Amino acid sequence: MQAIPSGFLAIDRKERAWTPSKDIERRPAEERIHDFDDVTIPFDAERAMYEASRCIHCPDPAPCHLACPAHNDIPSAMWLIEQGKFLEAAQLYRQTSSMPEICGRVCPYEQLCQGSCVHVKHHDPVLTGQLEAFVADYERRHGGVHIPVGEPSGKRVAVVGAGPSGLACAEQLVQMGHRVTIFDKNPAPGGLLVYGIPNFKLPKEVVFARWEDLERAGVEYVGSTTIGKDRTIDDLLAEGYDAVYVGVGTGIDAPMNIPGEDLPGVYKATEFLMRANVALDLLPAGMQGRPEVGRKVVVIGGGDTASDCLRSAIRLGAEEVTCLYRRTEKEMPGGKKDRELAREEGAKYQFLTQPVRFIAGPDGRLAQVECIRMELGEPDEKGRRRPVPIEGSNFIVEADTAVLALGYWPDPVIGETTPGLETRKWGLIVVDPETGATTRPEVFAGGDAVTGPDLVVTAMVAGRRAAAGINAYLSQKG
Ligand SMILES: Cc1cc2nc3c(=O)[nH]c(=O)nc-3n(C[C@H](O)[C@H](O)[C@H](O)COP(=O)(O)OP(=O)(O)OC[C@H]3O[C@@H](n4cnc5c(N)ncnc54)[C@H](O)[C@@H]3O)c2cc1C
Repeated sequence: MQAIPSGFLAIDRKERAWTPSKDIERRPAEERIHDFDDVTIPFDAERAMYEASRCIHCPDPAPCHLACPAHNDIPSAMWLIEQGKFLEAAQLYRQTSSMPEICGRVCPYEQLCQGSCVHVKHHDPVLTGQLEAFVADYERRHGGVHIPVGEPSGKRVAVVGAGPSGLACAEQLVQMGHRVTIFDKNPAPGGLLVYGIPNFKLPKEVVFARWEDLERAGVEYVGSTTIGKDRTIDDLLAEGYDAVYVGVGTGIDAPMNIPGEDLPGVYKATEFLMRANVALDLLPAGMQGRPEVGRKVVVIGGGDTASDCLRSAIRLGAEEVTCLYRRTEKEMPGGKKDRELAREEGAKYQFLTQPVRFIAGPDGRLAQVECIRMELGEPDEKGRRRPVPIEGSNFIVEADTAVLALGYWPDPVIGETTPGLETRKWGLIVVDPETGATTRPEVFAGGDAVTGPDLVVTAMVAGRRAAAGINAYLSQKG
């Protein structure tokens, strides 16, 4: 922790505790549904200082510091921001985070740092997420962001996957003096930061600016290259890379396995979000043009991806956008905040509803979804009550477009083409949690490909941890 002057202890914590937050400002729903631009209005310096001055500086270790998967020193950052020392605060975040400008925008901070803020008990928490994004943006505007490159080690590392875990791993490795090349199947770097999370939550220019920092530090990018198909991990090692980091995420959409799933008008969430949100020249080959959604859209699923699809469909011009979910709102895995925003923008929710068949119209495209009503039965192994179909309760929902947002599985291609690489359930890669080392010498892994679908911040932390593991391995190798 950074030293906070002892005089601070004289400051009346109670007074701070009762200072209200001015809350996050967002563009009005009726305005923001017409574009894919950021919905959040950023802080200015004055707002940032006010908000940071609400921090009561809990005794060390503060709950927010513990709740942050990156263990950002949030109390010290709040102290610096309160005094207008924005550059120092940004540099403090960068000591523990490879992407504060991104985590500050997309972290589910209501469940992490903000959720653990003691203010929650009586009052509004300190808006730590937005403050993190504010100082990182401020730093970029005032002097820029520079990744210090380490003394050349003569070692080369291949990073497979340019999502948050791969980018974070690369950011750490160049600072240790290693040369890094990132391979990714998509044309542009960013992983789900670009090809999943919509622009209205995370503007793409924020991700590309961070990528340019890495490029200036010497990180190379080889896009449109699938490892396991175009080249294997063995090929990379034979080409002279001293180690490989695998951060390939979980890119396969879970199927629904019901009749009519292949009809035109039925989309998987990944393709739908990519085509809705990514610049046309950055889409992978064979995936072109914006989705034509028609008047009525249904999105099937209850996670954050479903909220992103609902909100994208509204922006694509659909008149009626409905989420179909087989349990009730209480069991929905997605964040409440995203659902609130989706509702504000006009999304409707139909609970205890399970599609059983997609039905084509005379033109061969999707026209209707046959559904069945569900009721909640006994809890499953995770304690969530199971949805049970009510026999004979089938009904029809009219729809021009359906989007399946049912979750993600890992692509088995890396496991299948890398001898000695142990995988477990669903094809997730087995690693040493301390170092990210896999069962295959010279190969490390992290992020969603190891844990299953999780968060940007946890993927980033895994990438940083594996970079330390790779560095130790390379030093030992000599
Ligand atoms: C729609 C959506 C919205 C989300 N919103 C949020 C959010 O708001 N906040 C949050 O914290 N988390 C969110 N998440 C989760 C978060 O995006 C992921 O947990 C995180 O991106 C995982 O990082 P990663 O680096 O492990 O994998 P990814 O980001 O998935 O990156 C993996 C990369 O590997 C590449 N790749 C895959 N296979 C190969 C191969 N064989 N060869 C070469 N390249 C390959 C992919 O093209 C991709 O670029 C969201 C996820 C989705 C799907």
